[in-house]
Amino acid sequence: MKRNEINALVRKNIASLCPYSTARDEYQGGIGIFLDANESPYENGFNRYPDPHQKSLKARLGQIKGMATENIFLGNGSDEAIDLIFRIFCNPGIDNAVAIAPSYGMYGVAAGINDIELREVQLGNGFSLPTDELLKACDAHTKAIFLCSPNNPNGNAFPREDLLRIIDSFRGMVVVDEAYIDFSSIPSLKEEVLERPNLIVLQTLSKAWGMAGLRLGMAFADEYVIRLMSAVKYPYNINKSAQDSVLRLLEESVEGKVRETVSERTRVARELEQLSCVQTVFQSEANFLLVKVNDADSIYGQLIEEGIIVRNRSRIKGCESCLRITIGTREENDRLLSSLRTIK
Ligand SMILES: *Cc1c(COP(=O)(O)O)cnc(C)c1O
Repeated sequence: MKRNEINALVRKNIASLCPYSTARDEYQGGIGIFLDANESPYENGFNRYPDPHQKSLKARLGQIKGMATENIFLGNGSDEAIDLIFRIFCNPGIDNAVAIAPSYGMYGVAAGINDIELREVQLGNGFSLPTDELLKACDAHTKAIFLCSPNNPNGNAFPREDLLRIIDSFRGMVVVDEAYIDFSSIPSLKEEVLERPNLIVLQTLSKAWGMAGLRLGMAFADEYVIRLMSAVKYPYNINKSAQDSVLRLLEESVEGKVRETVSERTRVARELEQLSCVQTVFQSEANFLLVKVNDADSIYGQLIEEGIIVRNRSRIKGCESCLRITIGTREENDRLLSSLRTIK
């Protein structure tokens, strides 16, 4: 798709929106006597509004990710970006979106809040991407397709060619959620946004980067799409404390921790496969394993009694009898495995 075709997908009220202009947008200088924003003049570290454009943070993330700041949106978690995509492109009560299933629950929640029908297309055998079925589920009112790779809750990543085929065939926005990309051997699609203005790639600092508590999600997209997202977000969506803490924590390498998680994933998968209560350990490119067990509810309950909390996904279509287990530290994983060994 071309950039001028994206314009036609945007809701009329958003296309004509005049975004809120903050006091700091109107005066760009650094030092001065700031009597423009009705802030308290008494310094306590937080008395001033934060940078609404997150310039320093975007510059650093741009360096790390190898992306221009014009192609980066920062949100209060990726959840903010998901909600914004519905608000920008989907007319409530009229438009719809398509998503794979099973997948991340927030697509459905955000669609529901925005009064948008979410059409879910079940993954194929072995959690494969149902490319043709996804395209067939779209109609003239479908504004977005949500894909997640590596996918939550099963952990597999989809082939790049299949994802690109959907992006290039669909006349609407395609969101590829890469929350777990740092654990994956398959490269990100983020550079493709430079050629494909209908692609939005989501990443987050909540998983591999260890900053779930700070709430920082990223969207990579064509600069026109980024401008729309920035115009619709709350002006000060990332608070000063989060901007400062993220900048500081980005200087600490997580490479070693990610490598350890990936090697633990392999070890835990191999150990789980030996257990009599385990039927299948699904292939994962993420920091969790979806595990099919003999009796999910009972094993879930027994683990809780031992103070080990996993996610019971057994009531989700496509995940019958399955638990989703996050990879912890080596010690935590050993505790999990020894508890499971006592289960018949
Ligand atoms: C955890 C997760 C996220 C992260 O959301 P944040 O709001 O950034 O914490 C996004 N997508 C998927 C599929 C996830 O599992």
